[in-house]
Amino acid sequence: MTRAAILVATVMLGVSGLPSPCRAQGSPGQGRPGGGPAAMDPSAALQMPFEQFARARGVSADRLARALAIPEDEDLSQPLSVILRKHGLSRNDVQAAMAKANPVAAEAAHKNWAKIRLKFVLWGLVFLVAMVLLATRPITKPLRAAMLAASVVIFGVWLGVEPNAPGTVKDALVLYGQEGVIFPPRVVAFIGFMLMSILGNKVFCGWGCHFGTLQDLLWQVPTRKYKVPFRLSNVMRFGFLAAIALGALVFATDILEPIDPFRIFSFSAIAAVAIGVAAVLLVLSLWVYRPWCTLLCPFGAVSWVGERISLWRPRVNHKTCIDCKACERACPTQSMAGLRAGARLAQDCFACGACMKACPVQAIQWGLKPPADRPAEDAEGVET
Ligand code: SF4
Ligand code: SF4
Repeated sequence: MTRAAILVATVMLGVSGLPSPCRAQGSPGQGRPGGGPAAMDPSAALQMPFEQFARARGVSADRLARALAIPEDEDLSQPLSVILRKHGLSRNDVQAAMAKANPVAAEAAHKNWAKIRLKFVLWGLVFLVAMVLLATRPITKPLRAAMLAASVVIFGVWLGVEPNAPGTVKDALVLYGQEGVIFPPRVVAFIGFMLMSILGNKVFCGWGCHFGTLQDLLWQVPTRKYKVPFRLSNVMRFGFLAAIALGALVFATDILEPIDPFRIFSFSAIAAVAIGVAAVLLVLSLWVYRPWCTLLCPFGAVSWVGERISLWRPRVNHKTCIDCKACERACPTQSMAGLRAGARLAQDCFACGACMKACPVQAIQWGLKPPADRPAEDAEGVET
């Protein structure tokens, strides 16, 4: 998150360094040490042509003028102070307009960076703990339930809705569609999420995502379970991702926001529709494994692609496997069936560990490579 910190620092300097017309007229020479356009003498900044002032802060003059409601026919080559005085504008107006005219700065300005950093550190920790647990011991139901509950409380209830993995995909598309810009910290976050998927299937989703773990927790309630055919669920998920992309890039609209079930963790801004959608998904989770993740989640779709090259995953020893299919029955999705069959497009594996626990002959391991005692000829062309 170093880059994010740098961005925030730049934004803070850029915004707080805007000159006040009054201050500049009465007290010249109050520039900050450190140089750069954001740190220049306020009175010097006020004497700058408006367009040069905007350019020095990475904003187009037209855009800044629009944000300040300055008429289109205004001559922007005049000094900033002249234009501000003429239109009765204050320092606060300029600060607000800078944030509006620079969408990346505006995006950064309302983030709680300390919380975001903490969340990613804890996610990294959960990822490591889950990887070690999967590789070293059978995951019992009480252990799994305790870890899921802890994730819901820590990442959802305590640390809140933002950031979340589907948000990195959706918000990136929406910001690009609406403003034509990419928010660098979001790219870093997305790479982090994808890296976890490439390292260990959906370990992040399975153990750390707040809405994913909440659904999983409800799925632990003993009820009759149903599996949605994978082709159908994946077509729905990619269809929804395409709709989000179309809404964002063609119509500059965020179609997910009003129904985003993650908003149940943003207790201050809960919309009735989002609560309704979340409630339906959570009730459905009693019978269907993670309906949001498998049917709709944009990150679920994208990370499924990343899983095609994941390094750690359940590895089946076909030499010792007795073909009882206990693992397939224990698997909450059709992932294990696909993995055993060597399907290249197997369903997402949420790294729950149920297959390994269910196998009566310990033929499945969470590993980097197929088990050592597996005949080399079996390993050819079969990625399990
Ligand atoms: S697939 Fe599920 S667990 Fe993964 S990011 Fe989406 S909501 Fe979270
Ligand atoms: S039971 Fe299914 S989802 Fe869970 S680890 Fe095994 S293959 Fe993955």
